[in-house]
Amino acid sequence: MTASDVVIVGGGISGIAAAVELATAGVACTLFDRGRRLGGRLAVRTLRDTNTKWDGHPVDVGAAFFTVREPLFAAQVDDWEKRGLAFPWTDTLGVAGPEGLTHFTSGVMRWSAPAGLRSLVDDLAAAIPSVDIRSDRAVESVSVSNEGVHVDELSANLALLCGPDPQMARILAQQSELDEVRSTLASVAWEPVLALTAVYEKRSWPEISGVFVNDSDELGFIADDGSRRGDMAPVLVAHSSSAFAVRHLDDPQAAAPAMMAAMHRILGVTAEPVQVHVQRWSLARPATGRVETHLLDPSTGIGCAGDAWHGGPRIEAAWLSGHSLGQSAVSQLTSG
Ligand SMILES: Cc1cc2nc3c(=O)[nH]c(=O)nc-3n(C[C@H](O)[C@H](O)[C@H](O)COP(=O)(O)OP(=O)(O)OC[C@H]3O[C@@H](n4cnc5c(N)ncnc54)[C@H](O)[C@@H]3O)c2cc1C
Repeated sequence: MTASDVVIVGGGISGIAAAVELATAGVACTLFDRGRRLGGRLAVRTLRDTNTKWDGHPVDVGAAFFTVREPLFAAQVDDWEKRGLAFPWTDTLGVAGPEGLTHFTSGVMRWSAPAGLRSLVDDLAAAIPSVDIRSDRAVESVSVSNEGVHVDELSANLALLCGPDPQMARILAQQSELDEVRSTLASVAWEPVLALTAVYEKRSWPEISGVFVNDSDELGFIADDGSRRGDMAPVLVAHSSSAFAVRHLDDPQAAAPAMMAAMHRILGVTAEPVQVHVQRWSLARPATGRVETHLLDPSTGIGCAGDAWHGGPRIEAAWLSGHSLGQSAVSQLTSG
């Protein structure tokens, strides 16, 4: 055995939330993420080479915003808000059909982060220096034996797989002991989304924070990134419908003209953008969320969390799922 009691695979918000609970309890923990930066689907793209003053502006190219329903997550968000890391963005969003805006709708508060949503994961990670966090490190295999769990060359008591089910199922070794975890991970379908970022010289659209798009072949949501950042940068981000993404997964950049045309029609924009980028999310969200908060299988030492748990598929669900998995892992380690 090595010095780690627990190995976490995935440095998105669920994996980091689990790591916070383990670190707080003094459990030795290593976390691997295959990305160069932590955050997973709380992804930020920093503008470069736009020939505008907006180079350096962080754009949310993954999740658009978050909502807060449960007191435990509300306490975390309260801390972020007090330190200026998150703010209540809007409770009013536009609603559009394929041809344009139809009305506005008010509902729960949508929260944003001035530095982009990834900054919230970075903030959580900075508070747990005892955790050995290794980014740019893709895990290839998770297996079990009488000695414990094995994550590539590292052995531990528990391995917590925190992220999209298909990504985590892919690294499980073909061992019969892992069949039950594998079949649980296969029980939910996942949908893709393309996220198009368009940067303009100046703003030329109605005052909207975001727009839900109904009945459109191409789009599902449009966000005014300058509004959610608070600097009013002339940047729009459009999320495709899942059906449209399925047809363009092989060549996402080729989907840009159709997405742009749909967005311009809806918002009445005639100016051409100075820069366009399409981000592919093959596993953007689970089609449904399980009611259970997480899985922790005592017989194998494998745990699972993410936004396919705790009702999913939202940032809050992912945080709560990782948080509860971290707590269960601490209980399991300290009780036995
Ligand atoms: C386009 C889009 C729009 C969204 N909009 C919203 C929204 O408006 N509101 C909302 O609440 N939620 C939204 N979501 C969902 C939200 O982003 C997720 O619920 C949340 O980020 C899930 O966090 P997670 O930690 O469970 O998974 P992830 O963020 O996916 O993290 C998993 C991590 O695991 C890592 N990983 C995977 N495989 C390996 C491996 N083999 N080795 C090492 N590391 C690995 C990945 O690099 C990743 O960092 C959206 C998502 C997308 C893609």
